[in-house]
Amino acid sequence: MRWSSQELQTEQIGALPGLARLNNLVRSVQTPEFAGITFHEILCKSALNHVPGQSALPFGYTINPYRGCSHACTYCFARPTHQYLDLDAGKDFDSEIIVKVNVAEVLRKELAKPTWGRHPVALGTNTDPYQRAEGRYQLMPGIIAALADSGTPISILTKGTLLRRDLDLLVEANEHVPVDLAMSIAIYNDELQQSVEPGTPSTKARLATVTAVRERGLDCGVFLMPILPFLTDTRAHLDEALRQAKAAGATSVLYSGLNLKPAVKDWYLGWLSREHPELVGRYQELYARGQYAPKEYRTWLAARIRPLIRAHGLERGVVDPATGGIRSSALPTSPERMPAARTTPTFAPTRSPGPGPETGPMLDRGPASPTWAQPAAAPRSLIAAELPPELNPTLF
Ligand code: SF4
Repeated sequence: MRWSSQELQTEQIGALPGLARLNNLVRSVQTPEFAGITFHEILCKSALNHVPGQSALPFGYTINPYRGCSHACTYCFARPTHQYLDLDAGKDFDSEIIVKVNVAEVLRKELAKPTWGRHPVALGTNTDPYQRAEGRYQLMPGIIAALADSGTPISILTKGTLLRRDLDLLVEANEHVPVDLAMSIAIYNDELQQSVEPGTPSTKARLATVTAVRERGLDCGVFLMPILPFLTDTRAHLDEALRQAKAAGATSVLYSGLNLKPAVKDWYLGWLSREHPELVGRYQELYARGQYAPKEYRTWLAARIRPLIRAHGLERGVVDPATGGIRSSALPTSPERMPAARTTPTFAPTRSPGPGPETGPMLDRGPASPTWAQPAAAPRSLIAAELPPELNPTLF
């Protein structure tokens, strides 16, 4: 079935005033392969997001090829971002996916500017770049190629096993720029995982992806985030999680407890009241004072998990100054991982991303950037409270 026959009518687009206000909506698409999901294809004006102010985030720039995420994690910290589009932070976030179809092309232009300082760029800090939509739109190969060609360090955090599709490209990119990869795998109980993260690949599949990354000679951290109070914070669960992460070949592990922003809290507690109503009162109490669990809980969690991390021979991840991503403290970091300034690009992806399973927009990756003139930004230290849950380091 052709995608064009699945396009929504203009009148239906008009039913989404926030999207219409974007003024760069190309079309909205539904297809049987993605039942219940609508893709809103837009032409973005910029690809690189500068992290506002002098934030303590370890990376200065991020790229989000998608807004919304069909992985549909009930605890997802990014849910409120959909409200800017007059969409809701619940079901709409899971099913109304904004796709920046020209993101790689725009990115190349931005990276080609003489002012670009080859700052570390992070993917997966807001929504997942390897969510299911990436199987159709294949934006990541163009993004990776553009970053590598420009000498820009890359870090990627994902729950998507689709990462394996791009391993050849990432291995090749790592020969030219620092590349840090991490899989987010927090729940090691299949029934619970499918319930609380209904759109994600299984824990087993994600662990296999960690192994696949390691077999290609790249490091791969595991983000044990978020740890869900009273559900996944038992010693038995944490012990099993760390055992499986270690067995999969994880080079480091990061953990944090659950944070619940207001709109996220409503959605998560709605799930909790359906699936674990006996816990609602305890959560109301734990998060009575805001989005973070109290310091007492975080201290208790740290005391529980840190000895287990050591017992399993795992390292807690630390920030890699070269990428802003997370590396094991046992591994060497820059300056040797910093890319040297170059005047001609040498990185050439060995394969083209090509169109998706059905015809989507073909993206011109454009000419390689010849301008690698400035050093990357100096690393900044992490402050837990400023990071979203999936990047919230274990500083407590
Ligand atoms: S937590 Fe990550 S994978 Fe889950 S819905 Fe949010 S962005 Fe997607």
